[in-house]
Amino acid sequence: MSDLATRLIRPELADLVPYESARRLGGDGEIWLNANENPYTHEYQLDCSRFNRYPEFQPPELITRYAEYAGVTAEQLLATRGADEGIELLIRTFCAPNQDQIILCPPTYGMYEISAKTNIVGVTKVPLGDDYQVDVDGILKAVETSKSPVKLVFVCSPNNPTGHDMQPERITALLDALRDEALVVVDEAYIEFSAQASVLNLLSQYPNLVVLRTLSKAFALAGIRCGFTLANAPVIQQLAKVIAPYPVPEPVAQVATEALSKDNISKVQQEVATLNTLRAKFADVFTPLTQVYPSSGNYVLCRVPDALKCMTAMAHAGIILRNQSKQITLQNCIRVTIGTEQEMTRTIAALSQYLKESS
Ligand SMILES: *Cc1c(COP(=O)(O)O)cnc(C)c1O
Repeated sequence: MSDLATRLIRPELADLVPYESARRLGGDGEIWLNANENPYTHEYQLDCSRFNRYPEFQPPELITRYAEYAGVTAEQLLATRGADEGIELLIRTFCAPNQDQIILCPPTYGMYEISAKTNIVGVTKVPLGDDYQVDVDGILKAVETSKSPVKLVFVCSPNNPTGHDMQPERITALLDALRDEALVVVDEAYIEFSAQASVLNLLSQYPNLVVLRTLSKAFALAGIRCGFTLANAPVIQQLAKVIAPYPVPEPVAQVATEALSKDNISKVQQEVATLNTLRAKFADVFTPLTQVYPSSGNYVLCRVPDALKCMTAMAHAGIILRNQSKQITLQNCIRVTIGTEQEMTRTIAALSQYLKESS
């Protein structure tokens, strides 16, 4: 007889495989280039005098600063526990279980599908085209022919793990065609690393645009769990009904607010410039040797002769990367997060060695 929890769990969830986060996968090595984290750390001060009180629902100073940083109004912004909570919240707010659908465009970030599945929401996959751009016609056809309503279309730009920026004309084509029908969610987790402009300037024109942001990547604060969902006020108001009553812990609010000071923002911009230089160096070394995807994020995707062997060889050198082979079209592809200059020197040496030995 199976245990109580196994008998009680919702049947749709019995076989669910949780998101294989870099931390859950673990691995040995001192160079962690598997989670697109930022290698730099900053110092923060905490004021503990308010820790006995519940925090503000949306800490005003944090909201003011991020709104200014992003160029939106406070009503167009919701702070969440990472962008991941924004993804889940959108699905829980707009998609009825056993009824509605989301569309996603693989190869892409894994949490859209996991959040849909844990909420018993259908997933329609419209793969990226040969150019790694969203297939607008394919998406619109999928919306038209779907037996159940498509409520959300997830577009990741720059896309994780391929690194491509999505062409703005494609995003506006989706926004126009789906104007009265579905929300287009543009995940801009890596926008600070990209030369392309944010789609936030389209917010005033499109009631169906939603943008996801985070402090986990460029701001080097993956550990505090702070992200933002940006959209026009009517969308934010619906999300605000569903989100937990105290979504931003007081220490998180304090650190995030400090991170959004003018001084720290310019520090972040300098670090982003450094990481982008290291990204270009890495791409220059390996482009003549193997397939290297152009990247606008703090990571580079490369195809290697044998991804499992490459992961093992790199682990022997103390370097943990991310194998993306399970994703459609990405067999034998590994994703390398851009680390410090020292980390990249060792990574370039070890990867060059592996490529030489396997050729
Ligand atoms: C890292 C990442 C997220 C999640 O960010 P958190 O704010 O740490 O939850 C969302 N989307 C993409 C594409 C990511 O790579």
